[in-house]
Amino acid sequence: MGDVVNKEMPLPKDPQKHQEYRDKMSQANKGKVLSQQTKLKLSQANKGKPTSEQTKLKMSLAHMGYVHSVEAKQKMSQSHKARWEGIETKSSLDGPHHRECFEHKEWKRKVFERDEYTCQDCGQIGGGLNAHHIFQWATHILFRFLVWNGKTLCLKCHKKIKVYRRVQVR
Ligand SMILES: [Zn+2]
Repeated sequence: MGDVVNKEMPLPKDPQKHQEYRDKMSQANKGKVLSQQTKLKLSQANKGKPTSEQTKLKMSLAHMGYVHSVEAKQKMSQSHKARWEGIETKSSLDGPHHRECFEHKEWKRKVFERDEYTCQDCGQIGGGLNAHHIFQWATHILFRFLVWNGKTLCLKCHKKIKVYRRVQVR
């Protein structure tokens, strides 16, 4: 019967080796204790789960804010550009003379080229065309020279939009 036990747990007969075996065992036991401590730490970390839930919430919120931050970045770069333009931009806030500024002429040209000099409402090609600001010049300073904020319109359609806007405001 004792033979069976020895087959399962063969103990070295050499006393020195036996000692080594015991040392190894005790070390393994020490390791077990450590792992128990680790377990304890883990469980403690698990107890801190509410915090991690909060972190998740914060993460998701930050993620939701990501879209905003992209917009903010665009605005930032735009405002930076506005700073570059400096006094010229400030002095031409909404007076008619903003139309003379180089930036505005360039913007107009780009909008016309994108729309192939065609009124986007009635399809008139060439003739009297206007580059219309979808977000208004006066109220959306940051979008003033963004091509996507431009729309090519003939003079008639441009007037219509202006009238429509006055109605909207009132
Ligand atoms: Zn038109």
